Amino acid sequence: MRLGLPLDVIQATNNLSDERAEYGMTPRQIAARLNREAVSSPGCGQWNASTINGNRLRRIGILNNELYLGRIIYNRQKFLKDPETGKRTARPNPEDEWITKEVPRLRIIEDALWDRVQALKQRYSSRWGNKRQSNKRLFSGLLKCGCCGGGMTISRGDRYYCSARREKGTCNADRGIGAAELEQRVLNGLRDILLGNEGLINEFAAEFKRELARLRKEGHGARRRLLKEQQDLERGIKRCLD
Ligand SMILES: [Zn+2]
Repeated sequence: MRLGLPLDVIQATNNLSDERAEYGMTPRQIAARLNREAVSSPGCGQWNASTINGNRLRRIGILNNELYLGRIIYNRQKFLKDPETGKRTARPNPEDEWITKEVPRLRIIEDALWDRVQALKQRYSSRWGNKRQSNKRLFSGLLKCGCCGGGMTISRGDRYYCSARREKGTCNADRGIGAAELEQRVLNGLRDILLGNEGLINEFAAEFKRELARLRKEGHGARRRLLKEQQDLERGIKRCLD
């Protein structure tokens, strides 16, 4: 989170810790309440439960942010470039590489309150932390809620639900739809459209072949890279032994 926050966000941050500690509100309930009260989030949009809860190991999220105790932690993570996609991804650094600096004038909450919230969080956190579900479904990231236009995610078994309802409390759509049923309906629809149009079938077949070739090439590239890495390692081991 940036420094120099607007006053209402600082106030909200302060209240968040209070509410978590005093009333045992969950981050989802807190996000829903802030959105109801039209308090703008640090990014000036709507609050999401993850803005509040974040990730304990990475010390992100408002309830994990020691900046509010007047403590800045540098070097928590490094950014690496994925050689295939060129995308920057954050990797946590080991804790002994972190650099901590006390800056008392930035403190906005007391240790006692922080400790109470951490104890509460500890009690409810699972061994896996709040790791996101990572298995992708056919339509992951493509579905929009019919009521609010927000994204839809799998929860409660194998059903898609509006994630704005769950994570922000800003939508009332609570019905959800079974993943298998939805996939079948969309695929049937696509098939019907394709069958009625030869031009589209040819286009589909050509795109399918292109994608297959791309995946194959990507697989070969990865294999070559791994083989080279293996050879380098073996040479290194041999040098060490020598
Ligand atoms: Zn919705």
